[in-house]
Amino acid sequence: MIEVENLYKSFGDLDVLEDVDLTIEDGETIAIIGRSGSGKSVLMKHLVGLLKPDKGRVLVDDIDIGAIPYEELREVRKHFGVLFQGGALFDSMTSFENIAFPLNYFTSQSDEEIRERVLECLELVRMPDVGPKKPSELSGGMRKRVALARAIALEPRYILYDEPTSGLDPETSNTIDELITQLSDELNVTSVVVTHDMHSVFAIADRAAFLHNCHMHWVGPVDDIHKKPDEILDRFVKANEYHVGDPLR
Ligand code: ADP
Ligand code: MG
Repeated sequence: MIEVENLYKSFGDLDVLEDVDLTIEDGETIAIIGRSGSGKSVLMKHLVGLLKPDKGRVLVDDIDIGAIPYEELREVRKHFGVLFQGGALFDSMTSFENIAFPLNYFTSQSDEEIRERVLECLELVRMPDVGPKKPSELSGGMRKRVALARAIALEPRYILYDEPTSGLDPETSNTIDELITQLSDELNVTSVVVTHDMHSVFAIADRAAFLHNCHMHWVGPVDDIHKKPDEILDRFVKANEYHVGDPLR
C-alpha cells in the first residue's frame, strides 16, 4: 500500500502540489488524472522517491521513503517498475539487452537465468521475437512494450505508468490499455497510471484521482465519475474523453 500524506511540493516560486493526500490500495489500478502541468508526473516521482516532499510524507508499505538512507530507498525501489513517458530505452542496446539491464544491475542471476527471465518478460508483453532488435527498428507501440518488459523484469509489486498512451495512435493505445489490464491481473500488481486520456481511464482503472489547482480535487471509483458529478472534473472529462476526430476511441 502507498500512502501520500499532506504532500507539498514547489519549484522555486511555482507551487505544484499542496496538501495532497492519496491512498493506493494493493491490487488496484488507479489513474492519476489532470490537465497538462497539473503535477501528475511530479506526484508519480514522489511515489518512488525520485522527488522529495517539501512537506508531508510518502509511505510505501509503511516505510516513510523520504526519511530513509539511500541504500534502503534503493531496496524499496526494487518493488517498483516504472514506465517513463518517453520509454527511455537505451538506443545502442538491443531490446534483449535493455530488458536484461536491471537484472544484471540489481541481481546476481546467471546469464542463463537472465536469458530465461528476459524471454519470459517479452512473452508477457506479447512480443516474443523482438529481442535482437534495437529500439530504432521498432514502432512507438513496440518500444513501449519493450520498456514495459524492462519495467517488469524484477517482478515489481507496483507498476507506475507515465502517460503510457500519449503519442500513440488510437488502435495502438487500445492494445497498450489491454496490456496494462492483463499485466495487472496476471502479475497481481498495483498499477498507477498517470494520464489525461479519459478513454484509457474508463477502460483500465478502478479509481481515479484528479489533480486540479495543486490540490487533489476528487478521488473515487471510476464508476462514480458520471454518477457523482463535480463541475470541474466533468469539464476535464468531457475535454479528454475522445481524441479529436477519432472514431475509434
Ligand atoms: P503533468 O501533470 O503534465 O505531468 P508535471 O508534474 O510534469 O505536470 O509538472 C507540474 C509543474 O511542475 C509544471 O509546471 C512543470 O513545469 C513543473 N516542474 C516539474 N518538474 C520540475 C522540475 N524538476 N523543476 C522545475 N519545475 C518543474
Ligand atoms: Mg507528466
